[in-house]
Amino acid sequence: MRAFDHDGLHYFRFGALPDNGAVRHAVFSRHGGVSAAPFHSLNMSMSVPDERDRVYANRRRVYGLYGRDTDSVVHAHLVHGADVARVTQADNGTWVEHVDGLVTDQPGCVLSMNFADCAPIFLYDPRRRAIGLGHAGWRGTVADLPGAMVRAMTAHFDSDPADLVAAIGPCIGPCCYEVGAEVIDGVRGVFAGAEELLRRAGEQGSRGAGEKNGDRRNFDLPEANRRNLAAAGVRAIETADLCTACRTDLFFSHRAERGRTGRFGTVFALM
Ligand SMILES: [Zn+2]
Repeated sequence: MRAFDHDGLHYFRFGALPDNGAVRHAVFSRHGGVSAAPFHSLNMSMSVPDERDRVYANRRRVYGLYGRDTDSVVHAHLVHGADVARVTQADNGTWVEHVDGLVTDQPGCVLSMNFADCAPIFLYDPRRRAIGLGHAGWRGTVADLPGAMVRAMTAHFDSDPADLVAAIGPCIGPCCYEVGAEVIDGVRGVFAGAEELLRRAGEQGSRGAGEKNGDRRNFDLPEANRRNLAAAGVRAIETADLCTACRTDLFFSHRAERGRTGRFGTVFALM
C-alpha cells in the first residue's frame, strides 16, 4: 500500500488495484476527522458511542472525495458471516442486512465498510468490470467469506477467479492476535496446515492469565484470508502488511484499545 494525503485525510491505496477514472478505492486511516477521544478522529461508525453529528461529518469528508455522502453509498450491516449481496445504486444509503460481502458491476455504485482489526477484502475483476468489498474477522475467515465473494462474482458476473485481483487491507496481525480454544478449534476445523496459522502465543511476554500452556495461540488472520482467496482460484493477491493493533497511531484497533475505539473506513467504487 502507498500512503496519500488530501485535504487533511491520510489514506492508503493498493498498488495492485486501480484508482483511476473508472475504479476508485481507499483504506482510510483514523486521521482527518472531527471525533473526540477515544474515537479520534475519523470514526466512520455509529456502532460505537460516538456523537452522531461528528460521525456524519467524518463521512461527508470521506465519501465527499468521491462526490458522495452517507445516502449515496452502499453500506453493510456486518454480522461476521459469509453471506454476500449483489448491490446496485438502488441500495444507496442503506445498510444491507446480514452480509459481510458486497459485490457490484454497476457503474456509479460505491461500496463502503468500516473496520477495527477485522480484515478488509477487496476483489476486482478487470475483464468483467466488477468489484467486491468484504469484512473478515476470525468467524468470517473460518466461514470462508473471501471464497464466498469470489463465488458470488462468478455467479453474478461470470468472473473467472484467475482474472480477479485481490487485496487484503490492514487488520490485526499474528504479532498481536492471541486467541483461545474457540478460534483454534475453528481454524483447525477448516484449514489444511492450520498449525502454520496458529503460532504458539508469546514465548516471551505472554499474558497467560492462568491459561494452561498451549491453550493460547496467535492467529495469522491475513495469511488465512490469503489462503482462502488462493483456494478460490485467485492468483494476484496483495496484502497490506500493516497490523492495526501495532499501529494504533494509524488505525483503530478493537483489541489494542480494549473496545474503546472507533472504526476506520474503506471505499471501493465503480465510477
Ligand atoms: Zn501487531
